[in-house]
Amino acid sequence: MALYLHIPFCQARCSYCDFNTYVGLDHLYQPYVSALIQEGRLLAQQYSQPVGSLFLGGGTPTVLPIELLRQVLTTCFEIFVVEDSAEITSEANPGTVSLDYLQALRGLGVNRLSLGAQSFDEGELAMLERIHDVQHVGLTFERARAAGFDNLNLDLIYGLPGQTLTSWVHTLECALGLAPEHVSLYCLTLEEGTPMRDRVLAGRLPAPDPDLAADMYESAAECLASKGYRQYEISNWSLPGYECAHNLTYWRNRPYLGLGAGAHSWGVGLRWWNVRPVMAYIHRLMGARQTPWPSPAAEDGERISRLLEMGETLMLGLRLVYEGVAEADFHQRFGVSLEETYGDVIHELTGAGLLAWDQTRLCLSERGRLLGNQVFAKFLPS
Ligand code: SF4
Repeated sequence: MALYLHIPFCQARCSYCDFNTYVGLDHLYQPYVSALIQEGRLLAQQYSQPVGSLFLGGGTPTVLPIELLRQVLTTCFEIFVVEDSAEITSEANPGTVSLDYLQALRGLGVNRLSLGAQSFDEGELAMLERIHDVQHVGLTFERARAAGFDNLNLDLIYGLPGQTLTSWVHTLECALGLAPEHVSLYCLTLEEGTPMRDRVLAGRLPAPDPDLAADMYESAAECLASKGYRQYEISNWSLPGYECAHNLTYWRNRPYLGLGAGAHSWGVGLRWWNVRPVMAYIHRLMGARQTPWPSPAAEDGERISRLLEMGETLMLGLRLVYEGVAEADFHQRFGVSLEETYGDVIHELTGAGLLAWDQTRLCLSERGRLLGNQVFAKFLPS
C-alpha cells in the first residue's frame, strides 16, 4: 500500500495552479496536522497492509515548521506498518528550505526529495508566478545533496505561453547539469479558473502551441536518453533503479490511502475522496472517535466494478512505457487473460500501430505514446 499525505498550504499561489492548496492559512497549520494525525490513527485501524511508500505532497509540505512534519511522520511510523525499505518522499519548493531544515527532514527518514524547479528561464518563472528564481533551484539542490539526499527529482514544465524550443532545451540542460536521479516533465494545461488561463483567453499571453509542445517532448526524450535517463513512464525519466516507487503503485493500480484535505484513496473495491476545504476537513476530524466508513473526512466515493478495475489497470499500466501490462500479472489478478477480455481492442490498436503486443506483455508503441489518451479510452467500459 502507498500512503499519501496532503499538505494544502503554499507561500503564494502560482498562476497556473488549480491544486487544492491555500495561502495565508498559517494559523491552521497545527490544527490541520492534528486532524491529519487523527485521520491516520482512525484509518490505520482498518488498513493494516505494509506501507511501501509514503509521499508528502501538496501544496508545499515544507512550508510547515519541521516540528509539525516531525509529528506527522513519527505518528505514521508508529501507527502504520512502514517497511524498512520504504521510499519516503517530500515535495519542496526551491528557495524555501534551509540546510538545517533539509538535514532535519532527512533525519526524520525522508529519503527522496522532489523539487518543483519548473523552468530555468527567469521570464518563464515570473510568468508562472513561482516564488523562486533560477539561482534558488541550484542552491536548494546543492543544500539537499549536502543534507544527504541521494535521490532527487526535478519537476519541469513545457508547453508554456511564449516558450521556445531553445529556452526549453536550455531548461533541460540546466536541470541535467545538476545530475538529478529523476526528472518529471509536465505539459502545461490551462486549468479552468487559473489566472494564466484568463490571461491567455484575454490575449495578454500567447496561447500555447500544441505542435511545439510535442516537439519539446520529443527533444526532451532524446536529450534525456543521451544522458542515460530511462523513460519508464510517459512523463517520467530516471537513472536505473531510481523509478518513483510511490507513483509506480498508482500506475500499477494498487491500493493507496490518501490522508488530508481533498486526498483520494483507492482499495477494497472503493474509491473515495476527502472534503477539500481545510476548515471542513479539520471539523470532520475534530472529536472523531470512530471511522464512518470509509473515512470521517470522506466527501464522496464510488464502487469500482471489476470491469472498471480491469479497464483502469490497462489505462494506468500502459503509461509505463516498457513495463506496460503483463499478461501473467493481469491473469493472476483478475482470473482472466488480456486476450480473452480485450482481444478485439488489442488487435485493432496493434493494427493501427498504437500498441505493441507479444502475447506476454502489452505496451504503447512509440506512436501510441503521443496518442495515449485515445488508446486508454478504448479500454474503459462505456
Ligand atoms: S507551489 Fe505548487 S501547489 Fe503551490 S501554488 Fe505553486 S504549483 Fe500550486
